[in-house]
Amino acid sequence: MNKLLIVGTVAFDAIETPFGKTDKILGGAATYIGLSAANFKNVDSAIVSVIGDDFPQEYLDMLAAKSIDLSGLETVKGGKTFFWSGKYHNDMNTRDTLETQLNVLENFNPIVPEGYKDADVVMLGNLHPLVQLGVIEQMTKKPKLVVLDTMNFWMDCALKELKQVIAKVDVITINDEEARQLSGEYSLVKAARVISEMGPKYVVIKKGEHGALIFDKENVFFAPALPLEEVFDPTGAGDTFAGGFSGFIASTGDVSFDNMKKAIVHGSNLASFCVEKFGTERMENLSREEVSNRLLQFKALTQFEIELN
Ligand code: AMP
Repeated sequence: MNKLLIVGTVAFDAIETPFGKTDKILGGAATYIGLSAANFKNVDSAIVSVIGDDFPQEYLDMLAAKSIDLSGLETVKGGKTFFWSGKYHNDMNTRDTLETQLNVLENFNPIVPEGYKDADVVMLGNLHPLVQLGVIEQMTKKPKLVVLDTMNFWMDCALKELKQVIAKVDVITINDEEARQLSGEYSLVKAARVISEMGPKYVVIKKGEHGALIFDKENVFFAPALPLEEVFDPTGAGDTFAGGFSGFIASTGDVSFDNMKKAIVHGSNLASFCVEKFGTERMENLSREEVSNRLLQFKALTQFEIELN
């Protein structure tokens, strides 16, 4: 078994889309990453995060039933769980954050479980950069791969700390707008180059319904998103993508660029399920057969023969 250590928020979300509105439901970057990575064989995963004692036991039971180790998930007595609310525009590709309440995240000191200090892959999901840094520092063995996901919120309020983490990771996954904000470059090719100069060898740029790109110094590869008839709620798609990417790398133990190409296809494949229902619902009830059938659709979508005369 290979080990995947996941860091990120475990949260309450309130979401509004053109199709409807939810009250506080289960969300959080680490939640989506964990549910996504649970689809791979040969991987043990653990979440490092923090919740308040307002967090329902049934959510914990659901994550534990997916064999996710929760010993690094701290519960603060009397504390309130991180809360995020967002509203999607009609195109479903862009959204406004209505509210972010850090709550228990404000004073969180992460503790990596003893058994995961030698994890093969570390997936630093969206959360305060200093927490992400604190996790890297606790590793007793250099991981095969450290992947970082982040968002504009942290660029706006903790850019210096974010750059410190970026300098220490192998892969960064980031969406197109955030890549532009971080690099100051509009062209994504130039943006990837500038971000790579900050530290990561590989830069993955997520473009929502337009797929994802992976760059290293010499190469670039693109995976489309599956064209779906209906997108119900895109929340968590980026984290689900990151969970698919890191889960696949952990399950194979192969950190070559060729394997990363496959990893972004797995990430896109899993993200295509996430958006079909509100919140985590679709990811909670996903069969191996559904996942493999859709991978075949991806293959059919992208493979073609071409003859050059
Ligand atoms: P995504 O749609 O992939 O960007 O992820 C949405 C998830 O990220 C939601 O479930 C939120 O709880 C979580 N989230 C939103 N804002 C933040 C933030 N500033 N830091 C960490 N997690 C966040």
